[in-house]
Amino acid sequence: MISDLIISKSLTELLQHRAELGSRSLFIAGGTEINRLDSPHSDGSFIGLSMENLGLDEIRETEAGITIGAMVTLQQLIDSPVIPDYIKAAAGFAGSRTLRNMATIGGNIASCRDDSYLLPTCIAAKARIHTIDIDRKGEILNEDIPIREYVENFENFSGCCLSEIFIKKQDRFVKTRRYSRTAQRTPDALISFGSDLKEGVLTDVRIAVGSLGCGIKRLPIIEQSVMNRDLQNEEQCLMAVKKVIEPADDITGSSEYKQYLVGITITDLMNEALGGHER
Ligand SMILES: Cc1cc2nc3c(=O)[nH]c(=O)nc-3n(C[C@H](O)[C@H](O)[C@H](O)COP(=O)(O)OP(=O)(O)OC[C@H]3O[C@@H](n4cnc5c(N)ncnc54)[C@H](O)[C@@H]3O)c2cc1C
Repeated sequence: MISDLIISKSLTELLQHRAELGSRSLFIAGGTEINRLDSPHSDGSFIGLSMENLGLDEIRETEAGITIGAMVTLQQLIDSPVIPDYIKAAAGFAGSRTLRNMATIGGNIASCRDDSYLLPTCIAAKARIHTIDIDRKGEILNEDIPIREYVENFENFSGCCLSEIFIKKQDRFVKTRRYSRTAQRTPDALISFGSDLKEGVLTDVRIAVGSLGCGIKRLPIIEQSVMNRDLQNEEQCLMAVKKVIEPADDITGSSEYKQYLVGITITDLMNEALGGHER
């Protein structure tokens, strides 16, 4: 819960409130994370800054790519004819339609949860994030950063205002696998694989994992091994995974089981990206 709610008439006004109130304030998008029962923001000490009606709920398609406003809901992503299927699939990992109607892409990314529905897929897709701020003279400052950089340096970006997410139109293979016994349960593992294919060779590979109890992680050493063709089979993938991630042993499964899921999934998706058959 929040102690007060400020509704701004423009983005500039929103950013002015933010500059004035600093960490006593909190952006409010769909409110599904903030209002969770065990949310760290539930003590009533924060002033909410509503992000509604500021023009951030549009999806635009241009020659360059697709720009998604931070206030676009997960259901809007699924219903849009221009959003790539892999993003729709990731939005669909939120099993409840009621939640999808409220939860926004910006809120999901800014929460940077270990089990984020969207972050691994957005990293594999090489999505970019636009942030906005205001300086002392009232000038709006825009920044454009790769989503992997946002996640890797989350302490620096936490609390800054996300305005848009950009996905370059490209003929890129992106696929995410989510392992869970039910749609509503915390997944055992979430693995995303993205790559381009040039003359039968995988390039620009991005692999990101989540829901392993150790945060959202990109796996650059494995990406490089895939591009060098050092990983030819499941055994080699599994050995490489064991060297770079140590998932938590928890209610969703043992650390070894989750490493196994990551290893076999990377093998499968690598083969699929190369035009082979998936398991
Ligand atoms: C039952 C239940 C299950 C859930 N399961 C999952 C799950 O499995 N995986 C998962 O990822 N999430 C889960 N969530 C959390 C939440 O629903 C999603 O993360 C959702 O996408 C958050 O979006 P929101 O618009 O509701 O964010 P809000 O709750 O409005 O905000 C979340 C955080 O993001 C900040 N924020 C929001 N918009 C912006 C912006 N544009 N710029 C900067 N900061 C911003 C807020 O200040 C706040 O800190 C669950 C929630 C519930 C209630």
